[in-house]
Amino acid sequence: MQSIIVRSSRTLLDANVSVDLTIGVCLVTKQQLKKFIQLLTEKRDEIVKKAKQTLEEDMTLDANDLPDEMDLASSEYLQSFTFRLRGREKVFLDKIERALRKIDEGTYGICEQCEEEIAPKRLEARPETTLCIRCKEDQERLERDYS
Ligand SMILES: [Zn+2]
Repeated sequence: MQSIIVRSSRTLLDANVSVDLTIGVCLVTKQQLKKFIQLLTEKRDEIVKKAKQTLEEDMTLDANDLPDEMDLASSEYLQSFTFRLRGREKVFLDKIERALRKIDEGTYGICEQCEEEIAPKRLEARPETTLCIRCKEDQERLERDYS
C-alpha cells in the first residue's frame, strides 16, 4: 500500500481535494486515517454511553433526595456528567478527544516527545496514543523509578 503524506485529515477525507504531498510529516494512508477516526469515535461513544448509564442510574437512585429547587438544566446535567466521568475513563476520553483533534490538525501519528512518527501498527492497537513506543517505554520506566 502506498503511503501518502498527510497535511490535514480534512483535506484528505475530501475526495475532491487533492492531497498536498509536500507539507506535513505524518505518514499514514487515507484508509488508515479513516479507520483510526472510526476506532476513536467508537471508543468515545462507548465511554460516553457507559457514563450516561451510570449517571442515569445514580439520578434515579438519588431522585428522592433531590431538593425541589434543584435545577436540572442541560448545562448542569452536562457539568455533572463531566464531573462524574473520572479516573481512567476521563483520562481515556481526554486522550481520544486529543487524538481526534490531532487528526483534524494533521499532526496525528507524531510522537509528542521526540516528534518521530508513531508506527502505524502501534496506532492500530492504540489509536489514542500520543507517544511512540520508545518514548512510552521511557515514560513507564520513569514512572516506575519515581513511584
Ligand atoms: Zn517518541
